Amino acid sequence: MNYQLRREVDEVWEKCLQVIKANISEQSFKTWFEPIVPFRLDGKTLTIQVPSQFFYEWLEENYIHVLRRALDFAIGREGQLEYSIIVDTGTDRQPPIKVHVPTTNSPVAAEARQKAASEPRKPAPPPVRGIDTTELDLFLNANYSFDNYIEGDCNRLARSAGMAVAQRPGVTSFNPLLIYGGVGLGKTHLVQAIGNHIKGHFGDKSVLYVSSEKFTNQFINAIKNNTLQDFTDFYMRVDTLILDDVQFLSGKEKTQDTFFHIFNHLHQSGRQIIMTSDRRPSELQGLQDRLLSRFKWGLTADLQQPDLETRIAIIQRKLQAEGIYIEASVIEYVAHSVNTNVRELEGVIISLMAQASLVRRDIDLELAKNVLKNIVSTEEKEVNIDTIQDIVSDFYDVTIADLKSKSRKKELVFPRQVAMYFAKELTDLSLKSIGYHFGGRDHSTVIHAVQTISDLMEQDEAVKEALQKIRSNFG
Ligand code: ADP
Ligand code: MG
Repeated sequence: MNYQLRREVDEVWEKCLQVIKANISEQSFKTWFEPIVPFRLDGKTLTIQVPSQFFYEWLEENYIHVLRRALDFAIGREGQLEYSIIVDTGTDRQPPIKVHVPTTNSPVAAEARQKAASEPRKPAPPPVRGIDTTELDLFLNANYSFDNYIEGDCNRLARSAGMAVAQRPGVTSFNPLLIYGGVGLGKTHLVQAIGNHIKGHFGDKSVLYVSSEKFTNQFINAIKNNTLQDFTDFYMRVDTLILDDVQFLSGKEKTQDTFFHIFNHLHQSGRQIIMTSDRRPSELQGLQDRLLSRFKWGLTADLQQPDLETRIAIIQRKLQAEGIYIEASVIEYVAHSVNTNVRELEGVIISLMAQASLVRRDIDLELAKNVLKNIVSTEEKEVNIDTIQDIVSDFYDVTIADLKSKSRKKELVFPRQVAMYFAKELTDLSLKSIGYHFGGRDHSTVIHAVQTISDLMEQDEAVKEALQKIRSNFG
């Protein structure tokens, strides 16, 4: 292929990726889109090369809508997609065998097309100098809904406030609504769900979702192009403004000034403002006081780490959506092992599914452990519960089954307590989860173990030494 054509394909695919990236999770993006190679652009037909038949089926099943949006954006409505599937990886002498399949063969795609055709075409939004309004609409992701936002203690207030706002935008006292919480806890999902609900129920109201980063970039461009007035006019016209990750505005004084004016205008005219932040407002350093004080006019609600039951419900929901069955014990294992945030939990499930399909076997406990090992080992805390059980059982010459058994024999109880002690100290697992990994014991047993070993360390030099030896094995 000549250089010019090559560049064209790459550029079109790059545009597609922009849209895809904004619409799916990072882990899904890595798993399903990074391995794709843009292959050819023939008129308005883009051919992409995927590593396997399974891959192709997965994309068609799960990502057909987002691929359609991407094509709309990168090529236009007539854009078509074709897959080149590597059926056989080939040998040194034989080139790989590939088949080409157009995306139009898929019943899912046909359905999507039909749906798109039956939906009344929206009138094009009025052009605004300096801002591509069609582009903005692309960033409200229809996959985020209240339906698939699992409720738990961790998010009850935020979720119900969000629901109230979604049902009566601009009318409740929750204006602005500020949702804060750590990374991957569901901020974007929740505010997008609000946006989608408003869009679905109040057809005449415009909803604008924008990340603070994008807002800042648009602002900078507006200054550069001398279109600042258009920029503010545009934002002052929306009925619901969703600004994601406001912490990004910190230190950006000029952007904050402009946002301040937009905020005031919207608020005064009864329009809804929704924001997210990765920390509580009092910790938003670098944000002007006048903005922070306005955030307090409405409601601030936080998202916490999901508890075990919520994690299990999220996994079940996710699997159900993908039409995949996994044994309850495996779900529990994953829920117990990954307790940081929902994004990571989803990442593990996706890797599990991908792995199961690659090695062509069911998702069982062993596979789950393997996948988790790979994922956990890339993190700061390299020590996981399996390593701890391995090392401790080796040291005391007992088996891992012994550690998990119900036996109360002294020569087993002690190593078990030591292992629990290290699990508490070296992993992020909750007491409840640690108990689970030791034959389903409850959290008070774990507390007792940790206490016993801590006491012994202070009183007994031999125990102290032994524990130091064990500790050195964790590297
Ligand atoms: P944040 O914006 O806080 O970093 P996201 O909204 O991007 O987090 O959430 C990360 C992932 O976890 C998303 O795929 C989202 O759909 C999912 N998620 C988060 N909370 C929930 C929940 N309560 N129920 C279902 N999925 C959730
Ligand atoms: Mg987010």
